[in-house]
Amino acid sequence: MRTKKESILTDNWERCYLCGRKANNVHHIYAGSRRAASEKHGFKVPLCANCHTLGPRAVHRCPERDRWLKRECQLEFERRGGTRFEFVRIIGRNYL
Ligand SMILES: [Zn+2]
Ligand SMILES: [Zn+2]
Repeated sequence: MRTKKESILTDNWERCYLCGRKANNVHHIYAGSRRAASEKHGFKVPLCANCHTLGPRAVHRCPERDRWLKRECQLEFERRGGTRFEFVRIIGRNYL
């Protein structure tokens, strides 16, 4: 699957969404079976390797940070006019 550089959370794909350093990873905020839906709806962010998988607070290693990002993304979806019902239909659960 080709990854389009579209995110509802940022337009800046040069910078890590979490720390602002140079980004070289793409993180799909809702993974597994929901990865395709994340891709389609722009539920993804640019991250540096440290914030993505390597550091102690990387989203793939730190459940709190992962959850925070899941909430941020749903908040933005709803801020842009998406309904909670719609979000749950797409992602399968409510994080707020
Ligand atoms: Zn980072
Ligand atoms: Zn990831």
